[in-house]
Amino acid sequence: MATHLRSDGTLELGGVALESLTRGEEATPAYVYDVDAIRAEGRELIGAFEGQPHLVAYAVKANSAGPVVRALVEAGCGADVVSGAELMLALAAGVSPDKIVYSGVAKSDAELDLAVGSGPEGIGAVQIESAEEVERVAARARAAGRTCRVSLRVNPGVDADDLDTHAYITTGHDEAKFGVPLESIDAAVDAILARPELRLAGLASHVGSQLTSTDAYLVGARVLFDLAKAVRQKASLAFVDTGGGFGIDYGEGCPARPADFIRATRALQRERGLGDLALYCEPGRSMVAAHGVVLAKVLQRKVSSARRWLMIDAGMNDLMRPALYQAFHRVVPLRALSGPTSAWRVVGPVCESSDDFGVHTLPDDAALSHVALLDAGAYGYSMASRYNGRALPAEVFVSGGRVTGRTDRRPMSEWVEDRLAAGR
Ligand code: PLP
Repeated sequence: MATHLRSDGTLELGGVALESLTRGEEATPAYVYDVDAIRAEGRELIGAFEGQPHLVAYAVKANSAGPVVRALVEAGCGADVVSGAELMLALAAGVSPDKIVYSGVAKSDAELDLAVGSGPEGIGAVQIESAEEVERVAARARAAGRTCRVSLRVNPGVDADDLDTHAYITTGHDEAKFGVPLESIDAAVDAILARPELRLAGLASHVGSQLTSTDAYLVGARVLFDLAKAVRQKASLAFVDTGGGFGIDYGEGCPARPADFIRATRALQRERGLGDLALYCEPGRSMVAAHGVVLAKVLQRKVSSARRWLMIDAGMNDLMRPALYQAFHRVVPLRALSGPTSAWRVVGPVCESSDDFGVHTLPDDAALSHVALLDAGAYGYSMASRYNGRALPAEVFVSGGRVTGRTDRRPMSEWVEDRLAAGR
């Protein structure tokens, strides 16, 4: 939670009073981001490498807004992308091609061509996620007359129960579609080494998201490092990539900071005799989540004998995580109000029962006009949709204690025109 309660009882983010951003009919729902704090997050993480060769490949899917990506580039980060569009965005935001890794289980030929053809030597690595993908990447490199750096994304077979996170955001277990299963690694390595167009640069894994202890993170790293030791017998590797997944405190605690995950991983890397390899990681959430909020207006209250609902103008189309993962975001007033409080079920206007942000203790006072949904900087706007004909939320960027950029909500009529024009 990066918001701060001022002595006058108003909530601020990055030095800007959030209430000041709610004026006007179309002001909310709006995402607000503290760009300076995001840059500082990147710098702090990079500091944990203490000069060891590394790449912090920011997972662009968490938040792809230009000012956010550029701030992390300024901090020294590269990018982890999962589509051709994200690759184009990373390049346009100033990420140097060799600092980009491209993950994804099913890349199109056009996307592979973009990766193979970027920069003087292609991107940092195309992450190969199945033995079947090896020939597809090789074919695109051959067609372009170039060599392509690749890494193998390993599925370490970590049981979802071994990780302290939601099953929907674990990716390194046997049934997940992600990564090459352990029993196919040898064959995939041999297939890569047999293709002159491919250069095996590293091994990667990503076991899940929102891991709140370094122990959970090291479960996957241990498998990866053991494998890297074996693969080095026949191939020279440049890096090991232990993925993203560093958790944040959504209100239930997360004692480990992103830098703690890196320190623990570096210690294990040295212990396994791999200290000479560069260490890559792919954090998304931990760089941005705590530094963004959603501002919403209270549209209506509904009170029955058993329940109190607070209906706000932000819905599951704006912030999908609660509906998708049963995630919980704290909801707080923008201005402290004295008087009684109750347990209010906060819901949005979307016509789905899952459009529900959970129960929160909030003032009963009718003066409660606006609220903030906290820790919404990651997987918020980037997952937003126009379901129910809703406009995408506004975005406001704060830096140096003032608003430095904003994108307004699009008018309702734009959606109407777009749908009527379908198929024309
Ligand atoms: N890398 C890969 C391959 C991923 O699948 C993800 C997220 O699912 C990430 C990085 C980013 O994870 P997080 O946002 O938890 O740091």
